[in-house]
Amino acid sequence: MKSVFASLLCLLALLSAHAQTSLKPPTEPVLDRFLRYVKIDTQSQEDQTTVPSTRKQLTLANLLAKELTALGAENVRVSEFGIVYAMIPGNLADNSKVPVIGFISHMDTSPAVSGANVTAVIHKNYQGGDIVLPKDPTQIISVAKNPILKERIGDDIITADGTTLLGSDDKAGISEIMTMIDTLRQNPQIKHGTIAIAFTPDEEVGGGIEKFDVKGFGAKLAYTVDGGTLGEISNETWSARTATITFQGKNTHPGTAKGIMINSLFAIADYLDRMPRDNQPETTDGRVGFVHPYAGTIEVEASTLKVLLRNFDLAGLEAQEKLLRDLVAQTQAKYPDVKISINVQENYKNMKEVLKDYPELTDNAFEATKRAGLKPTLKPIRGGTDGARLTFQGLPTPNLFTGGENFHGKLEFNSQRGLEKSTEMLIHLVQVYAEKAK
Ligand SMILES: [Zn+2]
Repeated sequence: MKSVFASLLCLLALLSAHAQTSLKPPTEPVLDRFLRYVKIDTQSQEDQTTVPSTRKQLTLANLLAKELTALGAENVRVSEFGIVYAMIPGNLADNSKVPVIGFISHMDTSPAVSGANVTAVIHKNYQGGDIVLPKDPTQIISVAKNPILKERIGDDIITADGTTLLGSDDKAGISEIMTMIDTLRQNPQIKHGTIAIAFTPDEEVGGGIEKFDVKGFGAKLAYTVDGGTLGEISNETWSARTATITFQGKNTHPGTAKGIMINSLFAIADYLDRMPRDNQPETTDGRVGFVHPYAGTIEVEASTLKVLLRNFDLAGLEAQEKLLRDLVAQTQAKYPDVKISINVQENYKNMKEVLKDYPELTDNAFEATKRAGLKPTLKPIRGGTDGARLTFQGLPTPNLFTGGENFHGKLEFNSQRGLEKSTEMLIHLVQVYAEKAK
């Protein structure tokens, strides 16, 4: 009985695979859409008091709202903070049986590199070798540093011209979500539940998501479409704390300082020197966390040191904090006159702490990735994401790939296949949810 059932499932899979290949195309190919969006400068800016941090992000927000409406989306709105929200109605007999799934991408590009006058260059039918960007020959996407290029032979690779970033992060995600909506509209035979859409400003400067209306968004579960390499799905981020260590000395006129001055500089130097070198950002990767002294001030009277603690496991984070406290005790013993204090603040937690209770989010993304003909892999993010923040606000949100590489720099690239396969995965994903509801 079981094997009959299994072969029936196989047959169904074949049928649905066939249905996928005979889909009516979207009204605009994902590549064309992407090339339109990257031309719009949406760079965000650090240390602004308003959201969005730059008005120019609203140009894209308003355009997306208009296009969503034209694609049949409902309840399309741009909030006072420039967040675009929309709802794609489900087409099931009973949509309430499928959870409302959200898809989120960000509109801004990194403040690190200019996003003005982006000229995308398409390297057609890439045949291997380094890619030299035309407007600045010193900007080279080398095979040595980008072994992923070997998997892109025959693909049309999309880069900037060497003077700007490309903006695939995250206009690829936006284009893929929009093309999914377009394709669903062209193909009512694809069954799906209600889909919530949001495009956010200021992701790169960490401001936009604070203004996100989780309740108004209306999704039970969501995905950020803001990842990289094809097939990579992330349900883990750092757990993060920041330590501030203060070394209080005593300043006085150096001419009459004998027996009075307590110079805090020697204590902070001693403390830094005690830090192990094998757990720094420059000496770790993969799942290994780090302790990163990254800023500080030095004055005779008082010196301060700021240290980032990053780990995927809370126990590991605790151990890192203990290490910093132990080093305080050691330096304090050597410099008893300097008053040393340490203050540790929590920044954010690994979203896996919550997502482990929602395994279907990752499982369904894996299934959709396989259906798109890709190999799904889990990649922990050595950073934080908007999705992590949403996850702790009650909206579980892992991150999906977009096909993009080398974010935040002039060597950023994506490809036609990257855009198309990521879109295909999204179309499969909404179907996986609909099928599971039966
Ligand atoms: Zn991004």
